[in-house]
Amino acid sequence: MAENGAVPELPEVESVRRQLAPRLEGRRILSVTATPQLRFHHVEAAAHHTVASLRRRGKYLLGELDGGLELVMHLGMTGSFRFRGDPGWTPDTYVRATFELDDDVMEFRDVRRFGSLAVVPAGDYRGLATLASLGPEPLSDEFDPSVFHRDLQRSSMAVKPWLLTQRPVAGIGNIYADEALWRARINPHARSVGPARARALWQAIREVLFEAIEREGTTFRDYRMVNGESGRNAPFLVAYGQAGRPCPRCGTPLRKVTLGGRGTTYCPTCQRR
Ligand SMILES: [Zn+2]
Repeated sequence: MAENGAVPELPEVESVRRQLAPRLEGRRILSVTATPQLRFHHVEAAAHHTVASLRRRGKYLLGELDGGLELVMHLGMTGSFRFRGDPGWTPDTYVRATFELDDDVMEFRDVRRFGSLAVVPAGDYRGLATLASLGPEPLSDEFDPSVFHRDLQRSSMAVKPWLLTQRPVAGIGNIYADEALWRARINPHARSVGPARARALWQAIREVLFEAIEREGTTFRDYRMVNGESGRNAPFLVAYGQAGRPCPRCGTPLRKVTLGGRGTTYCPTCQRR
């Protein structure tokens, strides 16, 4: 089971995007109502614009609006989208923003309020530091193994917290960092990673994300796609949340430590520094 505190990462956000895109693209936003939130910026400016497309960058959803604007959405810890026209809809006090569309009403529900919504001039991410400095998309050709190795060599951080900065590669959080490091046999504390191991990690990142997208993400407490369901990837996790269980490769009990302020599970035997 995934642990409390798990947040949506690239596969979960991509799964939300795939369900949200056909319901938003081409729709006109008639009005927006948002309760004041620390992480909401100019959300009402989306009113009277049409959504041309819905893309994803890392853990961000980017709605291209006509008129040169962009609706930037981040699920935070507990954010999700739902539609009033869907079966089973009931009023909910955790709805923080409401988008009246020309054919339905989309709601952004967020219990913990770490989600963010902002309308910005398209591509202008000056107020969104993480998005502005986001690394390459891991499943695109721009994620280059030699550049990844070079950046890793230049970093003075341990490899796991380095991955979580979003600068070497976009969209990796605690779940998929632990999984990729296990698969690449690299200790999360490692600071010196040679080219062959960097290549293995590059490959492992792509594999774990691709497989998790195929399963529509990992199930955890607050992750919901637009259809109200969660993903099917949880039974396939081999490191994250598995502390104390035998390593599937060598049988050593997996160890959990805190690294860079985050719970980190790894095999102390076959994941080398
Ligand atoms: Zn092992």
